[in-house]
Amino acid sequence: MKIYLNGQLVDKEKATVSVFDHGLLYGDGVFEGIRAYNGRVFKLVEHIDRLFNSARAILLEISLTKQQIQEAVLETLRVNQLQDAYIRLVVTRGSGDLGLDPRHCTKPTIFIITDKITLYPVEFYRDGLSVITSSVKRNISEALSPAIKSLNYLNNVLAKIEAIRQNAPEAIMLNREGYVAECTGDNIFLFKDNVLITPPTWAGALEGITRNVVMDLTNRKLKLEVREEIFTPYHLYIADEVFLTGTAAEVIPVTKIDGRIIKDGKPGKETLKLMKAFGELTRMTGVPIRRK
Ligand code: PMP
Repeated sequence: MKIYLNGQLVDKEKATVSVFDHGLLYGDGVFEGIRAYNGRVFKLVEHIDRLFNSARAILLEISLTKQQIQEAVLETLRVNQLQDAYIRLVVTRGSGDLGLDPRHCTKPTIFIITDKITLYPVEFYRDGLSVITSSVKRNISEALSPAIKSLNYLNNVLAKIEAIRQNAPEAIMLNREGYVAECTGDNIFLFKDNVLITPPTWAGALEGITRNVVMDLTNRKLKLEVREEIFTPYHLYIADEVFLTGTAAEVIPVTKIDGRIIKDGKPGKETLKLMKAFGELTRMTGVPIRRK
């Protein structure tokens, strides 16, 4: 397996970064998780745009253009002969000294890992997930905006540990005010009376690429109303349908929250329609990996 590292494609064993890299020392960096389906990279432009926005928000200057990053992603997939893959694109502040001062990091570290994907088991999609609400609150925007996809994931990791200890695959995170924000690595949605509702990003959610696609599909394909509104766990408990979205999970139903069964305990009918429509889109669209 070859890894893209600072302009070169190197063997996995040789793909190493310095212990002085501020991505490691301080979580000072940004990243993206991207998927390739059937020889095409899904929403590649949107992912690269978000990477540049995250970088801009932390005053990190990426030394490549968006076009160069796109070509690097495609080239890494080509050398590894991957048609279906999970892609991890990371930019760190680079190697510096032991102080926080980013001025000592002269060059960002850029790497791209392309690998086979480990999916959630099929039962999760068939029966729905049983998730919990975490006691760990989502980072407050005034401290570190959840809109930035940074290498600082400790907040989410702590909530994930809580989920694992309760045998749940995901945890819902609330913001400081007690409103639902998102999950540790997924956005959250509910259907109530045929309206799709998801927390606005200002309530503490990442602007998920999958989230945007699902909102669009609900409008255009399902012809149902979509609202970005704050809500509490109570609104999830009494919802008609609940589901999560993310690049890795795609669209996945939730049938139990904090031990409470949602509606009849089965994946909802609109959720199933969205799963199907999303699946079709991933197979049909995206940036081709093969050179034209
Ligand atoms: N929220 C968080 C905290 C995430 O890390 C992710 C991505 N794994 C998402 C939501 C979903 O975003 P996307 O659909 O862009 O993968």
